[in-house]
Amino acid sequence: MSSELRIKKLRGSGGYVMARVTDEQQMKGNLGGPDLFLAPIGRLDADKISKHFCNTCEKEFEGAPKIEFENPNEEVAENLILAERGQYICNTCESSIAEYREFKKQDEAGDVGNAKPIEAAPQVEPPQQVAENIPQPIEEHETQSTKETTTQPGPATSVSSIEGRAVYDENANKIGIAKQVGVDSTQSMVLVITQNDGTEGSIPWKNIKKVGEIILLGNPEESVTPGKCSNCEFTNKEGSKFCEECGTALQ
Ligand SMILES: [Zn+2]
Ligand SMILES: [Zn+2]
Repeated sequence: MSSELRIKKLRGSGGYVMARVTDEQQMKGNLGGPDLFLAPIGRLDADKISKHFCNTCEKEFEGAPKIEFENPNEEVAENLILAERGQYICNTCESSIAEYREFKKQDEAGDVGNAKPIEAAPQVEPPQQVAENIPQPIEEHETQSTKETTTQPGPATSVSSIEGRAVYDENANKIGIAKQVGVDSTQSMVLVITQNDGTEGSIPWKNIKKVGEIILLGNPEESVTPGKCSNCEFTNKEGSKFCEECGTALQ
């Protein structure tokens, strides 16, 4: 068994693969618990994978699952590019065994240009909430600003990465400094920050209200309280059609 020392079980949301990994990949896949995860590691060479297990088939298979990926090179935040999005797919039932996303910063993206989209895999969950929470700069007529626009992500954007920005909570208290963007074990996007006490913390993207000179967090629960009036903020009974206080129609 000594030759299999570096074969690790790497978990995904719908199964796992057994693969030979480097120390670096092993570190990436370790999210703090006893298990290693595929999502932060990204795409492995098929010949490194010896077995895979599909939760849907409830069965272990020899060899690698199908790996499908695309390179959208889509700017999801200022100076942050979704470089690759991929899935490990069961050869038998086509269920997704694991998904991953790889992000790149624009200033390090020299080799990102050669996008070769493969057949459009059915995307399970487009990152809707990310798009809502990250305001794209659209002031194209602002002549004084030599900063970036959505259409021209020039080299100027490299000076203003998300890294190093102060992170404030909804009460305008500084809680830390942005470090990087990552994914958690459920494969949701998170912002990794260095907290005031020097330890690392992560914040779900949906909690981010605005990214500007600083990163402002919001209180997501507040905006989704059922029955809350958008006009006067009175909290109505759940299911109410109109605000008891001011009569505004509620959604
Ligand atoms: Zn299967
Ligand atoms: Zn109201």
